[in-house]
Amino acid sequence: MAVKKKAAVAAKRMVAAAKKAPVKKKAAPQAAAKKALPAPIVVKPVPAPAKPAKAERPKKWTAGAELTDFFPHEMLREETIGVCLACILDVFTRYLGMAAVTAQKQMRAHQPTLDELHASPLGRPYFRERGDTCPHCHSPGKWLAQLKLVRIEGGKATDAARRELQKSLPTSKGQYGFLDQKSTGREAFFQWLEHAGREFDFDNHSAIIAATRLYLERRYTDVDWDAEFTGVRVIRRSREVPEGWLKEPNRLVLSAMLFDEVLAIQYLFSRSQRSGGVTFEGRMTLQELVSRLRGSGFLRHLGIQASMPGDILEQLLDHLSGGDAALKFHYILDRRDFLDKLAALKSARVPKLKLGASAAPL
Ligand SMILES: [Zn+2]
Repeated sequence: MAVKKKAAVAAKRMVAAAKKAPVKKKAAPQAAAKKALPAPIVVKPVPAPAKPAKAERPKKWTAGAELTDFFPHEMLREETIGVCLACILDVFTRYLGMAAVTAQKQMRAHQPTLDELHASPLGRPYFRERGDTCPHCHSPGKWLAQLKLVRIEGGKATDAARRELQKSLPTSKGQYGFLDQKSTGREAFFQWLEHAGREFDFDNHSAIIAATRLYLERRYTDVDWDAEFTGVRVIRRSREVPEGWLKEPNRLVLSAMLFDEVLAIQYLFSRSQRSGGVTFEGRMTLQELVSRLRGSGFLRHLGIQASMPGDILEQLLDHLSGGDAALKFHYILDRRDFLDKLAALKSARVPKLKLGASAAPL
């Protein structure tokens, strides 16, 4: 009886509330009461994933800009290589017999090949160690210049921006040079994995989060990940997020499939450091990872049907990397410092070279 009484009181309250509530169309009182009588079912709306903030990048070159501002960070590799003008001049004049003036003109046009810049160790006139003198001929600092080399991984995420940038970079005096290299998706992915993995010590949770962020930066290149990761301390999975991710104040909620993809990446990142990979779900051997990804439906989702863990890993890597798909690395060589140092030497009327006995021909 008491229950019935309570229900009646509640119903009365609802009717009263319905009467008080503003009604757009004038409804008959009976109809309003009918509508209000069943207990209202409150359906909590599933929050629609907010559109992630887009990363803003410059489109045209302006003085003072950095090449690295134009592209997603994880698609880039930047290095600085030392070059000794005395070594080049020595070869042009001493070994090739050029007059000093001709040699200077030739030096302005000097552009290294990628093979020369990637040799290990670097040969004369290039060097990596920054010191006061040239490691090859011991010439002092005024003969030493720096070449900046920015490598951009080709693809949808960078091609349009790179073409625009190349058009707007000053090249009339040889300030910038462009070099291309053929590669594959797999090679680019492994190089990235190896390069990015070196930054972390996977003994702590924050390193796993940081590594995950790098992967997301590479995977979704037009998102402002600074904004998405602001305040994020935890990354979770949820079947309620159909795809992608949902940003919440303190956490990032990934769709089940993206979370599993991230687990695989965490394993790949950390397996060279530890026996087994370190993931959000603890330390895993390859067998454990494969069982986990099979159980969740992730492998089926990707169409991976192999049964041996090694074969599964191979197919997983092909999926994550793009496999044998052709890809290009585009290099932008910043020669400005090289040209500035050359001009400074010219205005000082080229000091006479005093090369040490160790100086060898190029
Ligand atoms: Zn030198």
